[in-house]
Amino acid sequence: MRYIFIALPPYLPARWHKIHSARIAALDALQTQEERSIYLNKHCSWVNLKKWLSQASGDKCWYCEAKSSRAPFDVDHFRPKLGITVNGVDLSGHNGYYWLAYEWWNFRLSCQRCNRPEKDDIHVLRGKANEFPVRDETSRCQNFEGALNNESPMLLDPCVQSDCDLLAHGIDGEVKPTANPGTWEYQRADYAISQLGLNAWNCPEIKRKQWSTLDILIRSKINRSEIVRKLQEHLSCDHEYSSFFRSAIGTHRDKAWIEALL
Ligand SMILES: [Zn+2]
Repeated sequence: MRYIFIALPPYLPARWHKIHSARIAALDALQTQEERSIYLNKHCSWVNLKKWLSQASGDKCWYCEAKSSRAPFDVDHFRPKLGITVNGVDLSGHNGYYWLAYEWWNFRLSCQRCNRPEKDDIHVLRGKANEFPVRDETSRCQNFEGALNNESPMLLDPCVQSDCDLLAHGIDGEVKPTANPGTWEYQRADYAISQLGLNAWNCPEIKRKQWSTLDILIRSKINRSEIVRKLQEHLSCDHEYSSFFRSAIGTHRDKAWIEALL
């Protein structure tokens, strides 16, 4: 997970402001959850921002850093818009953060693996879906008047640098927590790894395989300029799994020319 920085003021596509105002006004006028649900399912205007969100990450999933290969990306609502689950169980009495449904700062570009519920190869259910546990339920916002800053989400947020720092890569391609076991920070990282399936779907194997080729190239010592070009390419923010490659390439930092690249 790499930190996603969006410069303020956000340079949103020109038409978005108009769409946003119209949607918010229409949503405000609805009284019941059923009406909101119908409206939000019919007016998925957030897809209009997909390209804009994609530019912020170099066309990578904000959660796992995978590139969109075949399936198109989703626009995930970090705070779910229509209902919340905690450990797979519906949170009773809460209809989701519907008032944030059209707020660009609640959108996270996500691959379908990270966003949609699906059982992995060992039949463990992965995917963020409507999961959104917080540290203390009494601080959860119930409506637009609530203070979001008082919530402590369990899920790591790619738009928060300190959250991204809670994950590190091993040379084995696996994502690991950086905090000490038993801490809230460790719990959060462990939860994100499990829920988003960061070590599922053969991801560590895919990373290891790519690293193996790069590692051989570094050791070959032939054509240094070509090797440097390759390494720079893998370290670039828009390269798939670039945070993994930064860690892996770092294992060669005893070489001054590698250290200079990091
Ligand atoms: Zn993903």
